[in-house]
Amino acid sequence: MKTQVLKIDEDSLALAKWIIEGGGVVAMPTETVYGLGANAFDTAAVERIFEIKGRPNDNPLIVHIHKDYDISTLVEDVPEYAKLLAKAFLPGPLTMVYESKGTVSKAVSCGLDTLAIRIPSHEGAQKFLKFVNLPIAAPSANVSKHVSPTTAEHVFTDLNGKIELILDGGKSEGGIESTILDCTGDFPVILRSGLITREMIAQVAGECGEYVYKDGMRALAPGMKYKHYSPNCRTVLFDFNELEKAVKLYKEESGNGARVYLLCDDKTSKEAKVENVLNLGKDENAIASNLYLKLREGENIADLIIAVAPEKQDGVMVGVMNRLTKACR
Ligand code: AMP
Ligand code: MG
Repeated sequence: MKTQVLKIDEDSLALAKWIIEGGGVVAMPTETVYGLGANAFDTAAVERIFEIKGRPNDNPLIVHIHKDYDISTLVEDVPEYAKLLAKAFLPGPLTMVYESKGTVSKAVSCGLDTLAIRIPSHEGAQKFLKFVNLPIAAPSANVSKHVSPTTAEHVFTDLNGKIELILDGGKSEGGIESTILDCTGDFPVILRSGLITREMIAQVAGECGEYVYKDGMRALAPGMKYKHYSPNCRTVLFDFNELEKAVKLYKEESGNGARVYLLCDDKTSKEAKVENVLNLGKDENAIASNLYLKLREGENIADLIIAVAPEKQDGVMVGVMNRLTKACR
């Protein structure tokens, strides 16, 4: 199969609609990462997503809708706090989990009676969702366990020959997957951290819980229990106060002939004074935006990526550290 990468215009949208209506899958840009989308009503099409990615069949998908799509056709009651949150943050990088009406294919939620809904703010994603006028089930458009894609080229690297079309909407500026929020209870609970932080949610909803997955527990967001986000080279992660140790390892490994790169924020890169650096940038939003980009850049040039965690660990960095820890496991 030939994989086309096309800028978003009338022609590529018409092709995308034709593929989706025919039961195929299309990669699309969003403001977080690129998604691999299929018609959420079409079981065979949704199953193709799992097959193409090599995704475990108990890891449910998020349904993406246009901002004017009638959500009441997909889910049961939306609680008051969720309405407030939707008003504050949507369209945007926030996925909300509700009781499902069971109208989309059962394959989307892998048998759960809940449905995760997201309204992306990316202009290209909104155009695509309006054009197809369907709920689109979409996980990240990478091969399962690999680093999530934030450019059309990343998607091409992973899925060339496996899908017909990649809609190219430029770099996904957010850079890490959406915050996932359970909205089935009396107050919202974060299932996966992201750019919309716990503090931001609590400010609007009054309170916000956070679910912390530990190995062996029943996973509320089933994706949590899997290895994830991993580059195809060796990786190791040090705490922000372990820079000396990290530099020592860098020198040892380089001395043994390995191509070693230090992955860290701008401040640490200045302190480390080593030659090969994958610089994540200065502030938390830059670090989130560059994380997957630099992990993918790194796997192409390094035998070993030595990551050093940024000192700041709250806010957006909760989500960044969650990914970085899994990437370096
Ligand atoms: P991905 O788009 O690859 O990041 O995967 C989507 C994530 O959404 C998965 O890790 C799931 O754990 C989560 N998810 C999807 N649907 C649900 C749901 N109904 N309840 C809880 N988590 C969900
Ligand atoms: Mg993913």
